[in-house]
Amino acid sequence: MTRAVLSLGANLGDRAAAIRTAFAALKDEGVLVARSTLYETPPWGPVEQPPYLNAIAIVRGDRDAAGWLVRAHELEQAAGRTREVRWGPRTLDVDIVTVTRDDGTPVTSDDPRLTLPHPRAHERAFVLLPWATLEPGAVLPGRGRVADLLAALPADELVAVNRWDHLH
Ligand code: ATP
Ligand code: CA
Ligand code: CA
Repeated sequence: MTRAVLSLGANLGDRAAAIRTAFAALKDEGVLVARSTLYETPPWGPVEQPPYLNAIAIVRGDRDAAGWLVRAHELEQAAGRTREVRWGPRTLDVDIVTVTRDDGTPVTSDDPRLTLPHPRAHERAFVLLPWATLEPGAVLPGRGRVADLLAALPADELVAVNRWDHLH
């Protein structure tokens, strides 16, 4: 058994439905431990595109790290994701932020097909804020406490991540 922290994002079509459907699939499978509320966030990276909804899911199940990536890709496919430009708009993106073994040790990998922990998670308010809210004591292996990483980000990046559920 391993535990994984997943970052979900959507910025095309019915964004909330795509994320909620993925949550429901993980729940039906019996692996969903917890999930954050939804946050609306500005797009990240070089491509001009609509705002995202983002959320975090914590899952636990009988998969290794590669198995979680397979599951992530299945969820993206089920949401009708097509791969065009890197960092471009998408119906659903599911990234593996970190994977932890039952003995508490993190899985680490430099493989470009699955880099763990995710190499950009520590600088992304849309990952850190939902995660810290869901799990206040969370640690991103190799980077430190999620709450501390969040506090180190520029204030304008923090205020750009807005709780969305309670508005809709
Ligand atoms: P970013 O990784 O910066 O969030 P992205 O999510 O837009 O970018 P994608 O086009 O979804 O990038 O994925 C590109 C490839 O990244 C995937 O095919 C996958 O093999 C690889 N990858 C490497 N590490 C991870 C990880 N931790 N989680 C998900 N995919 C990963
Ligand atoms: Ca991503
Ligand atoms: Ca991805």
